[in-house]
Amino acid sequence: MITQSNKRIQIAGVEVSPDHYIGGKRVGSAQVFTVVSPIDESVLGEVASAGAAEVDLAVQAAKQAFPEWAALGAKGRGVYLRKLAELIEAHVEQLAIVETTNNGSLLEASRLRVMKRGAHNIRFFAEWAEKLEGEAWESNGSHYSVHYEPSGVSALITPWNAPFMLSTWKVGPALAAGNTVVVKPPEWAPFTCSMLADFAEEAGLPAGVLNIVQGIGEEAGAALVNHPDVSRISFTGSGETGRIIGKAAAERIVPVSMELGGKSPLVVFADADFDAALRTAIGQYDNAGQVCLAGTRILVEESIAEKFLAGMKAAAQNIVLGDPRNAATDVGPLITREHLQRVQGFVDRAIAAGAELVYGGSVSAELGGLYFQPTLFTNIPEGAEIVREEVFGPVLTLQTFATEEEAIAMANSTAYGLAATIFTGDEQRAERVGAAISAGTVWVNTFFARDLAAPFGGSKQSGIGREGGNWSFDFFCDVKTIAKRIGSF
Ligand code: NAD
Repeated sequence: MITQSNKRIQIAGVEVSPDHYIGGKRVGSAQVFTVVSPIDESVLGEVASAGAAEVDLAVQAAKQAFPEWAALGAKGRGVYLRKLAELIEAHVEQLAIVETTNNGSLLEASRLRVMKRGAHNIRFFAEWAEKLEGEAWESNGSHYSVHYEPSGVSALITPWNAPFMLSTWKVGPALAAGNTVVVKPPEWAPFTCSMLADFAEEAGLPAGVLNIVQGIGEEAGAALVNHPDVSRISFTGSGETGRIIGKAAAERIVPVSMELGGKSPLVVFADADFDAALRTAIGQYDNAGQVCLAGTRILVEESIAEKFLAGMKAAAQNIVLGDPRNAATDVGPLITREHLQRVQGFVDRAIAAGAELVYGGSVSAELGGLYFQPTLFTNIPEGAEIVREEVFGPVLTLQTFATEEEAIAMANSTAYGLAATIFTGDEQRAERVGAAISAGTVWVNTFFARDLAAPFGGSKQSGIGREGGNWSFDFFCDVKTIAKRIGSF
């Protein structure tokens, strides 16, 4: 039974709705699912679980709201979207504590960076849409012009590791493009996306422009991607789910953008700034390694490998594992017990395959719960699972290479191609290696530099398509060519 609801629950002292947001109203479901905090595995609340009926209601609300929203034009929409961005900024503290309580990410990082990026995602694309101009030219007696037109209802599906940031990264361009949206937040961390609906309401977004359906991927997510009135699917998550969504999109010939997993290399040449490379390598334990872009395969030139390994061992001893709400904490918990078992499985199989465990390897004896120790493997048998598959936990590997060619071959040796990081003091080498590595993003002597104007996405199994800057509008819009004969008929 679908009912209107004004229910609110407290998450870390912040009032949050556990219900869907459909057509400008809070709507509950007969079915619910339970959400647990990774900090102490306590129950945070029960959230409405959508089936096909709720999803249909949300898509119909979005479909109904579409013509007016599209007709507002980029400037008209920008007024609402700027208000939405302002409201996110005004609630950074609340968003940060709710996200931390819900997914265990570090509170300081959330407060200082991640939530502000949520506001930036909305404002940036609102401004970009206002300046978006299709090209125009003349050729063979005709005048050609390119037009970016809203495409309808976008389905936006996101994972739990950065739910607010990743949802706004899709909501921003989709709404700015003139589409209306149905967001399906991750079931393990649904609360900050629910807050986004409150801000949309306060910003005065017309009912139905932004809808949130909470629910389980295989039910709510599946119903959404299979809905006949959805005209775009933007998905961030695992390759496994990506394959299922890809089939649904293929069935209806709907454009789909996929940002999937990674197993990114971090390549350190002997001529690099050693300390910067070491700091960056240790920094890969950020968010307990639950970062798609993490450079989890550390590849070090042989001549400095021993020193680098010693540096990592020493630095790892200083990593503070613990409650993500404490400012001193460097690494927090894994998201769920189920995920912890998955991470432990990778570690156990790596040991069984003969990889050398340098440190870590299990849950902290002191903290218990979901607090997995930062872990490092070296001397890894060639082709072992631990250097091929994404673990999505605080587990790094260190391998060595003798030559630039070998470094490139090792960097390219997995099925993934999301990102790569190179540390070198030689600019020409940086150019050569950067060009030779298959990855959506290559960082040189830096990590995680992200500008929303740049294309973002993955090569090989790490995704399909690019978003960011114009690429977001190429995806969310129907791009039309008008060719007009010059002169009289
Ligand atoms: P997941 O694929 O299990 O879930 C992602 C989302 O898809 C969730 O909202 C889930 O409910 C939904 N979903 C699940 N099954 C579905 C189905 N059949 N139909 C429609 N929707 C469905 O991924 P996860 O465990 O939440 O996230 C971790 C993965 O996400 C990792 O592989 C990570 O690398 C990847 N990720 C990629 C990026 C990127 O930008 N490339 C960013 C963050 C995370």
